[in-house]
Amino acid sequence: MNKDIFLTNNLTNKKEKFVPLDEKKIGMYVCGPTVYDNPHIGNARPLVIFDILFKVLKCKYGKNTVTYVRNITDVDDKIINSSKENNISIADLTKKIIKIFTDDCDFLNCEKPSEEPKATEHIELMIKMISKLIDKGFAYENKKHVYFLVNKFKDYGKLSNKKLEDLIAGSRINVSENKKNSEDFVLWKPSIDKEPFWDSPWGKGRPGWHLECSAMSKKFLGDKFDIHGGGLDLLFPHHENEIAQSRCANDTDMFANYWVHNAFITMSNEKMSKSQGNILKISDFKKKMSGQVLRLALMTAHYKQPLDWNDKLLNDCKNTLEKWYEVYIKLDTKIKIPDEMLLPLYDDLNTPGYIANLHKLYEKASNGKDKDKKIFVSACNFIGLLNQTKEAWLDFKKLKSLISEEDIIKKITLRNKARDDKKYEEADKIRDELLDKGVLIEDKDGKTNWKLK
Ligand SMILES: [Zn+2]
Repeated sequence: MNKDIFLTNNLTNKKEKFVPLDEKKIGMYVCGPTVYDNPHIGNARPLVIFDILFKVLKCKYGKNTVTYVRNITDVDDKIINSSKENNISIADLTKKIIKIFTDDCDFLNCEKPSEEPKATEHIELMIKMISKLIDKGFAYENKKHVYFLVNKFKDYGKLSNKKLEDLIAGSRINVSENKKNSEDFVLWKPSIDKEPFWDSPWGKGRPGWHLECSAMSKKFLGDKFDIHGGGLDLLFPHHENEIAQSRCANDTDMFANYWVHNAFITMSNEKMSKSQGNILKISDFKKKMSGQVLRLALMTAHYKQPLDWNDKLLNDCKNTLEKWYEVYIKLDTKIKIPDEMLLPLYDDLNTPGYIANLHKLYEKASNGKDKDKKIFVSACNFIGLLNQTKEAWLDFKKLKSLISEEDIIKKITLRNKARDDKKYEEADKIRDELLDKGVLIEDKDGKTNWKLK
């Protein structure tokens, strides 16, 4: 489509027109998972958001022009601790979690990135980068540690809007550390006990976490590239440190041109945390619902806004898909989506706006014309929805409710007891809670029946 893409760039705090360095070679780097535990719903948001951005970029610039790199952190303190706690080798643990992560991405219908480099396969590049930083005077070695000298980089804090003086004032040097300044961060540290290690000019050790993204983005996208993405929690210090390392090592005035961050998922709804317990791991949802429900739910808020996660949201999304599948039609050929349909996505990835357009297309498709149904399904497919056939969706539905049968019966017993005790407010609350989970209850002839909505 001959329209510009706009993105909110955290480097300038402005919504800006996206101008690639090279229209034929677009690069996007997104910080990927640290593979120490099953991914949870918070990890799912960037997966879906940047998958959509990948699709939008390909739509504008062509399928083979976009390189999307998402790394896998497979050496880190959290991994070492989890391996000790669970008595499993680091290799077995990371292999297991990478498999779960890949399955989760499939479940969410996310396309595979162009590259998924692992940190442990790029240690040599990281060592090279550290040596360069030491040679140029941006880093120093002390007792087998190497630190980045933050006060040597004049733009430090520009991305996160932090002033170096404030950072210094807000931190204290830990006596066990060997840094010159409190704000310096580690590039290399010695490995102790049975921790994984690599040989380096500074002894047996392992890299600091921030370094891998600088090394791997350079390998796959070069010294400068277009978009760097990730969750908002990575803005500081991780992304700030990536910029410092890369620009100083590569001698550039720029690292990534556009910094795009997704906001958090919040759990303000008490009902969710109480009733769902541990069902915040993506893999746990698999037994309960189609991945499409999750995917749609993750798009309902703009990526810059927090998304409140609750049962009602999931139930609404399930009902929306249910409705949309009524006009589902199998596509034999590729159908062009009207340009105006895509406008919200081009405008800073406005997914709620795109969903609103889908609702309009659905209304049109409901009149029964195959042509309109095809356009509707094609527009859904564009953002990774309705890719399952109707049969597969219906199959899923049969066994999917947000609550087990045993729990439904328990809840109904509690609700009826509350009614007997004349605690009507409490009884109504339980009924509404069940309704939020898609369970409808009816009282008839002194008995309570239930069914799935
Ligand atoms: Zn990173």
